[in-house]
Amino acid sequence: MAKLNYCPNCGEPVKENYTVCPACGESLQDTQNLEETDPFEQNISGSNQQNFQPTPPEENTFGWAVLGFLIPVVGLVLYLVWQTERPQVAKSAGTGALTSVVISILAVMFLASMAGAAA
Ligand SMILES: [Zn+2]
Repeated sequence: MAKLNYCPNCGEPVKENYTVCPACGESLQDTQNLEETDPFEQNISGSNQQNFQPTPPEENTFGWAVLGFLIPVVGLVLYLVWQTERPQVAKSAGTGALTSVVISILAVMFLASMAGAAA
């Protein structure tokens, strides 16, 4: 479907590909190019900048890893809650929690083997 422009001289609706107004004979090409090129390019560059910005900045997730390590349940909850919203934090908290659990299991096994050896 052809887009309609309006003649700057007489205001008559004119098809976009017309270079001359059929009603009054006004040349349409120059004004069309001047008016439409600039704002369009500004819009494109503007939307491009907005497209680049949403990528989340690198978050400092070390604190969350420590928290997950100290309180594995909290780390696990954070991991589940923030998987989509803050994946970096979720990963750190989950890793901290997992590390904590693994170390706890190893510690229990170590203590158990010590107790077994002592008995
Ligand atoms: Zn006209």
